[in-house]
Amino acid sequence: MADNIFAKIITKEIPAKIVYEDERVLAFRDIGPKAPVHVLIVPKKEIARVSEATAADEALLGHLLTVAAEVARREGVDDTGYRLVINKGPHAGESVPHLHMHLLGGRPMAWPPG
Ligand code: AMP
Repeated sequence: MADNIFAKIITKEIPAKIVYEDERVLAFRDIGPKAPVHVLIVPKKEIARVSEATAADEALLGHLLTVAAEVARREGVDDTGYRLVINKGPHAGESVPHLHMHLLGGRPMAWPPG
């Protein structure tokens, strides 16, 4: 496993507030929440960023979305709505080199994003 914070959360070397886990995916609360609900959905497989996923990862990428929708239901934001975000590269503000999807909800959000 790579030596980054999410790899260590996946192996449970570092604690996190886990809200969902299965054999392929872990979801935990963001340590610096930008909305009342801010959960990160992370594949356990080591994929640094979306541009490094391959055709072999398509089912896993789809699973991230269905897990995000399930977590949103559990967090009570399905009716009010939510945003799913993947940051890739410096212009988007990617800061951890392990693929992760942000689930943000619990307040209205502006569009376009800043
Ligand atoms: P990004 O900027 O898209 O790479 O998102 C990285 C996210 O990881 C940020 O929203 C951070 O607040 C969050 N983060 C960093 N370290 C931790 C941690 N130990 N536990 C939970 N979330 C974290």
